[in-house]
Amino acid sequence: MGKSTLFNRLTESRKAIVDPVAGVTRDRHYGRCEWNGREFTLIDTGGYIHGSEDVFESEIRKQVKIAIDECTLVLLVVDVTEGVTEFDKEVANLIRKSKKKILIVANKVDNSERDAYTGEFYALGLGNVYGISAINGSGTGDLLDDVVKALPEIEEEFADNLPRIAIIGRPNVGKSSLTNALLGEERNIVTPVAGTTRDTIHTRYKSFGHDFWLIDTAGIRKKSKVNEDLEFYSVMRSINAIESCDVVMLMIDAEQGMESQDLAIFSLAEKNHKGIVILVNKWDLIEKNTNSTKEFEEKIRERIAPFRDVPIVFISVLSKQRILKAVETAMQVYKNKTQKIPTNKLNEFFLPLIENYPPQAIKGKYVKIKYVTQLKIRTTAIVFFCNLPQYVGENYKRFLENKLREHFDFSGVPVAMLFRKK
Ligand code: GDP
Repeated sequence: MGKSTLFNRLTESRKAIVDPVAGVTRDRHYGRCEWNGREFTLIDTGGYIHGSEDVFESEIRKQVKIAIDECTLVLLVVDVTEGVTEFDKEVANLIRKSKKKILIVANKVDNSERDAYTGEFYALGLGNVYGISAINGSGTGDLLDDVVKALPEIEEEFADNLPRIAIIGRPNVGKSSLTNALLGEERNIVTPVAGTTRDTIHTRYKSFGHDFWLIDTAGIRKKSKVNEDLEFYSVMRSINAIESCDVVMLMIDAEQGMESQDLAIFSLAEKNHKGIVILVNKWDLIEKNTNSTKEFEEKIRERIAPFRDVPIVFISVLSKQRILKAVETAMQVYKNKTQKIPTNKLNEFFLPLIENYPPQAIKGKYVKIKYVTQLKIRTTAIVFFCNLPQYVGENYKRFLENKLREHFDFSGVPVAMLFRKK
């Protein structure tokens, strides 16, 4: 069908900004996509259809159902060389019942002759058909134009400007326990309100001098019994929660360490420009010696590299260890994320440094960086104005980012290092 090829094409269409996050379960993929200044998360439900394709296995049905339930917009990818299949009809029925917005993507329209065949997919009765070629990219621009148009307006969910902290993690890591520990015992808490994002719960947390919205992905368990489903379900929910928060508290299980699913969620949070704190929960279950924390931390940092500057807090929700520290750390990350470093401070720091360690000349070209400033936007971005931005190498960018992080506190904050012509 070419879903994966299409996925890669769409998520790599702006390679500098996005690249696909490593697959989570089986062939499923989650990626960040940007088009006309609008960003969104693209989920590929995965390659369950191997071999016989007239069997609409119950497993596939479940996956597709969850995906349809949880998403904003469905792209149904069909194969123009095969025509309408039983599978397409089955999925079309599911989508019709859900009343979700849908675009039909007729793939493998590699030449204009094949364009004529896209017509038959109108028989599915679901609306517009977009003839594209995932291989050569034709038609994908028009498709993306309409994808972006079909997305809901971005709304500021809260007028209050309070920090929004999301608790994210795999099933059973202790999210509900943490939510209860934070909210259960405090009396001065406003009643939970349903978030505007589907099925995330936003609760005001106001104690110990902190005041913020706690976002959690409650209710996952009720809807799904099977483990495989649960995992997928929780990822879909996590994506929603990540998109509606400022800082992610990513909980991982001390006994399991940072697994590929955790890493995929970490990358999504990073690509969404969210602040991140890693909470290693169930620390009570670990036999400890003097180096345990250090070694564990080091392992995590190796996995999350190159974005290693992330606070890691070892907690036990069960024995109420360092829960408040977790909250304080998340609030510090929020502070780091919302700070605006004055331009003179940045220049005082960077210009002498750059003078001493200038970028290497490439092909005889010398890059002169003239001044540095932080953009006044929601995400954190430092701009270096220079004569030849295209000649600044990745290593040098990394060098400047490391220096930035040594000197200023951007712990837990993804920072974009931009180079512009002046
Ligand atoms: P969720 O699925 O992420 O919401 O996880 P839960 O909060 O439901 O917790 C899953 C299980 O882990 C429950 O049996 C909890 O009692 C247990 N648990 C949660 N936190 C801790 C902890 O710090 N230490 C230990 N030993 N168990 C914990």
